[in-house]
Amino acid sequence: MKILIVEDEVRLSDVLKKNLETEYFIVDVANDGNTGAKMGLEHDYDLIVLDQMLPGKTGMEICKQLRESGKTMPIIILSVKSETTTKVELLNAGADDYLIKPFSFEELVARIRALMRRPRNIQEEILKADDLILDTKRQTVTRDGKNIYLTRKEFMLLEYLLKNKDIVLSRAMIMEHVWDMYADPFSNTIESHILSLRKKIDLPNKQKLIQTVPGRGYKLSYV
Ligand code: CA
Repeated sequence: MKILIVEDEVRLSDVLKKNLETEYFIVDVANDGNTGAKMGLEHDYDLIVLDQMLPGKTGMEICKQLRESGKTMPIIILSVKSETTTKVELLNAGADDYLIKPFSFEELVARIRALMRRPRNIQEEILKADDLILDTKRQTVTRDGKNIYLTRKEFMLLEYLLKNKDIVLSRAMIMEHVWDMYADPFSNTIESHILSLRKKIDLPNKQKLIQTVPGRGYKLSYV
């Protein structure tokens, strides 16, 4: 699950990014309104958190712009009590939720998870293939009832593969969804993570789930 945070208080955006990453989200950050709008329009984020007061554009303006361009991902706007923008205005601009600063991190995560559970995003909490089960909420993976311990990155990669079962995913798509904007697209990081993931989930006496599609990418499927 990839999230964009648009927040000009660098200390806050750093803390949010770090904490959300420990919750197994992939996080990009923009520190001003124009960059945030550009990133939100160009990339395919699963959710966007917008601060209201930003240099360049307000959170509400970015939200409107994203909705006008047809983007439907959930949007949460962060505002402070003293701002004149009302809840109704934010919701009318296309925001799904809003949080008043200061807020607890637990509150933000709870809102994010609630929005991602909404049916329009079809975010299933339990993902399955054969007897492999990934629980996105508990962050656990089992195969044949046995726990499999994955690194954070392996978990996010497997989640992305499972959400797109039977679909060939190119390296660029995996890079876009599972790595953040600072990842080196030419490193062999995807290959090495696929390799380590295979070792953990494709047990010797089981059907292989992760397929390599030569020249095109990878897909997770089982017959
Ligand atoms: Ca601000």
